[in-house]
Amino acid sequence: MHIAFIGLGNMGSPMAINLVKAGHDVTVFDLVESSMRQLESEGARSASSAMEAVHGAEVIVSMLPAGVHVRGLYLGREGQAGLLDQIDGQPLIIDASTIAPEDARIVAEAARQRGIEFLDAPVSGGVGGAKAGTLTFIVGGPEAAFQQARPVLEAMGKNIFLAGEAGAGQVAKICNNMLLGILMSGTAEALALGVRNGLDPATLSEIMKQSSGGNWALNVYNPWPGVMENAPASKDYQGGFLVDLMMKDLGLAWDLALDSKAAVPMGSEARNLFALHAAQGNGRLDFSSIQRLYRSDMPE
Ligand code: NAD
Repeated sequence: MHIAFIGLGNMGSPMAINLVKAGHDVTVFDLVESSMRQLESEGARSASSAMEAVHGAEVIVSMLPAGVHVRGLYLGREGQAGLLDQIDGQPLIIDASTIAPEDARIVAEAARQRGIEFLDAPVSGGVGGAKAGTLTFIVGGPEAAFQQARPVLEAMGKNIFLAGEAGAGQVAKICNNMLLGILMSGTAEALALGVRNGLDPATLSEIMKQSSGGNWALNVYNPWPGVMENAPASKDYQGGFLVDLMMKDLGLAWDLALDSKAAVPMGSEARNLFALHAAQGNGRLDFSSIQRLYRSDMPE
């Protein structure tokens, strides 16, 4: 299949490489030249603009930082036409970025008016999942377009869900990441309380894992340094999922709650904790570094 891939960042690059490995004919575009050179060395073709990349493509995949970039790419900005106004043919569009559901719906509707299907397909699984091709895709859009996208998504991911109509993928992703932010800060809080009262963090973690407090953070992403060898906490909180990205997702959850008049007291608390942590200069650390907010006597 001829696939255009726009946005070769931490996530997009390994995802595009997996499409090449699956035998697709992939043309890539990113604003950063070096990212395109890397993809060329993996067997992709590069283009000098997004418009050139999508020329003749059957499927377009985008993986951009935020809603402003996705709207800009497809709808245009500052007097520049967007892709939807210039595309020839009717390629299927899969946007895997994490953006506001409303942004996804706006672009999906604009695409639909031009006879083009647009799916929001945010992912879970991080850079590790993107490299291993084991991402979870959480899709919003029409069933028929979802089925058409499936083989492409299967080259990049393992678990593929249709959450509902346009925007539903983003809603589900936002709910998941709000829960993740709550679970990570709650886990860090419990560990800090136990250690302050004389417990060994590894022993306490094992006890909670096997008890009713068990959760994903304890199982695979322990925030206390040294408890889990391969977790970012044991690597000075380098790599992994940035505090800044968790802030972005908790902000999306907050906006969604405001729009739908939903109460999210735990999500708001988690957002405030991560905001405080980010304001102390920790935005580029892995999000499990929220542990540091809970203790001053923790090993650096
Ligand atoms: P990133 O900042 O590493 O990459 C984004 C890429 O988009 C950059 O290479 C940038 O140059 C490019 N870009 C921006 N505007 C562009 C344009 N107009 N045309 C072409 N390229 C453009 O971000 P990332 O970590 O790859 O994340 C991408 C998306 O995936 C975000 O929405 C993020 O929230 C989501 N996400 C990230 C993770 C993670 O662990 N990093 C996990 C799940 C979801």
